[in-house]
Amino acid sequence: MYPFALERPRDLNAALAFRAQAGLNDAPVEYIAGGTDMVQLLQENVRRPRQLVSLAGLLDNGIELGPQGLRLGAAATMAEVAVHAGVVERFPLISQALLASASPQVRNQATMGGNLLQRTRCPYFRDVGYASCNKRMPGSGCAALGGENRWNAVLGTSENCIAVHPSDLAVALAALDAVVEIGGPEGERSIPLADLHRLPGDTPHLETILEPGEVITAITIPADAGGLRSHYLKVRDRASFEFAVVSAAVALDMDGSGIRQARIALGGVGTKPWRVPRVEAAMAGAVLEPAKLREAAALAAEGARGYGHNDFKIELMQRAIVRAVEIAGART
Ligand code: SF4
Repeated sequence: MYPFALERPRDLNAALAFRAQAGLNDAPVEYIAGGTDMVQLLQENVRRPRQLVSLAGLLDNGIELGPQGLRLGAAATMAEVAVHAGVVERFPLISQALLASASPQVRNQATMGGNLLQRTRCPYFRDVGYASCNKRMPGSGCAALGGENRWNAVLGTSENCIAVHPSDLAVALAALDAVVEIGGPEGERSIPLADLHRLPGDTPHLETILEPGEVITAITIPADAGGLRSHYLKVRDRASFEFAVVSAAVALDMDGSGIRQARIALGGVGTKPWRVPRVEAAMAGAVLEPAKLREAAALAAEGARGYGHNDFKIELMQRAIVRAVEIAGART
């Protein structure tokens, strides 16, 4: 681990001023909140800031359920949100995704904002022993393209990076049309969660649209995304403390045994949380009939590209959609 100075600003404005002096991702000055991902990256020498600015005690950690929907303060922990009675009752998809994430110890510490901003688990990004990683060192190449890429993406990739976005929470929030509230030196703004993460393109080191100094302050989920029949299906290599190979977040508005509206997002397959609007459109008005669901789910494969070891994900993600829709639709 490289040495760094830890700053503990007295309020959020003071913290924002610190970070605004720096740049974008992997800048000399970085924020730290729960720290569950940042500390790993520091230990592995992947991130080498000279200054860390602590957000501890500076951000909202409330969980509010009201007529407008659900509002999650950025500092609320994964554990707190996962077991909140209102979340479990109205937005169970969020609770399911959180409980399928990480470990109890990590969930006790990790925050909502930090979860959305966690870095990829691509092994070539996490191991500085590999020289080629455009995300870690722009212009150095991508070792995953010709290397071990079983865990990498098949959607939203570029010739410069095929890293998967690792958050389960973000996949559930994408399906529920969540909005991210952002604070920064220039004031506050809100954006759809779907617009928070960038595709890698030719700048994979830039992962979000956050400007220097900006921080996530809260996440809101609209009321009309509540009370739906939902399921978060996570396929992974072991039952606990493991990232998704493929996941599907499904929330259904049912009309008897038919689907009035489907909201579906995928994890483990995209370079960002991946919504599948064509699949959703094909499922609208459909009954829970396997052949029809498989036909609709096949549309998720449009534009997908495998890189060898991860070719199987293209079929698996379709099956995950079908299974998750069947489970969600069978709920009462
Ligand atoms: Fe780096 Fe992205 Fe390639 Fe992984 S996939 S080695 S993160 S450039």
